[in-house]
Amino acid sequence: RAYNFNAGPSALPFSVLERAQQELLDFQHTGMSVMELSHRSKEYDAVHNNAKQLLKELMNIPDTYDILFLQGGASLQFSMVPMNLLANDQIGNYVLTGAWSEKALKEAKKVGKTHVAASSKEANYTYIPSVHDIQLSEHAAYLHITSNNTIFGTQWHEFPNLPVDLIADMSSDILSREINVEQFALIYAGAQKNLGPSGVTVVIIRNDLLERIPENLPTMLDYRTHSTSNSLYNTPPTFAIYMLSLVLEWVKEQGGVKAIEKRNIEKASVIYDAIDESDGFYSPHAEKGSRSFMNVTFTLPSDEITKKFLAEAKERGFVGLAGHRSVGGCRASIYNAVPYEACEALAQFMKEFRKQFA
Ligand code: PLP
Repeated sequence: RAYNFNAGPSALPFSVLERAQQELLDFQHTGMSVMELSHRSKEYDAVHNNAKQLLKELMNIPDTYDILFLQGGASLQFSMVPMNLLANDQIGNYVLTGAWSEKALKEAKKVGKTHVAASSKEANYTYIPSVHDIQLSEHAAYLHITSNNTIFGTQWHEFPNLPVDLIADMSSDILSREINVEQFALIYAGAQKNLGPSGVTVVIIRNDLLERIPENLPTMLDYRTHSTSNSLYNTPPTFAIYMLSLVLEWVKEQGGVKAIEKRNIEKASVIYDAIDESDGFYSPHAEKGSRSFMNVTFTLPSDEITKKFLAEAKERGFVGLAGHRSVGGCRASIYNAVPYEACEALAQFMKEFRKQFA
């Protein structure tokens, strides 16, 4: 198999794919694929509730929160968050740390009043602003952050602890490290990086937030619709939720989030070490204290050398290393399912490649 460093959709654990393959034609002796089960059947109900229960267990989600399985990607949450939680006289506060935060803010502006509470835009998003530099507006409805910036390769390592409901887009680092869910009022994440294939979006919402949702929202865009129906108001993305349940079982087998976090740190360290030991040949985009353990971004001395690097990497079976156009260079996305061996092989290749130019 390829060494898959794609930013999303991204690698899935091989054992999960194998199990899905084994069960594909006949799911638990039903004589049907899981894709063919009615979403009102007891067999599907078990899959659905198992996914929910496993996520609750792995992330230590208290009973005071609900877990929703929605569609529309994390991008729809950019709109749903303000539609549900930004009342007329209040202000949605946003910390800008990259392209996804900007998109979240853009959608909120269409719904209500907003305020940029901190930003690292002036430095092309090379760092995460200090929690001490966050300036909330008056009447703040919530503070929205992007916990990991997929494109720029930066990540929050200390979350703001302010007297305001904290909302996080965790699309690219959910389940990659231990977090205290109670620090957040709402967490959302598209599944296609650490949770499974694309098609399902997870929302973890503190129950009291459901009480402040305005009336008259379109039914499908109202969190209450999905909360009261156990995310079965309409046909859910059943296959994606099934795959999510398999990925969560895999995380549990690995020793849970704590063990995954330890391995993620080792994976990221081996690549960052190759960068730091390169005498500036590989130049990291992110400042040291803001480095992401999920997306490692770096540039090479010239566009020509970058092209050569990517071409040789491809020959060696490394896929998905081209950086996003707004950063240039390279990006290695090393989500939970990317094995340590892939990161070690990449680091080794980086060292060998550099020798050509010594
Ligand atoms: N937020 C972050 C941090 C992302 O990385 C992405 C996608 O890469 C998105 C939001 C958008 O997610 P979706 O494609 O599920 O709408």
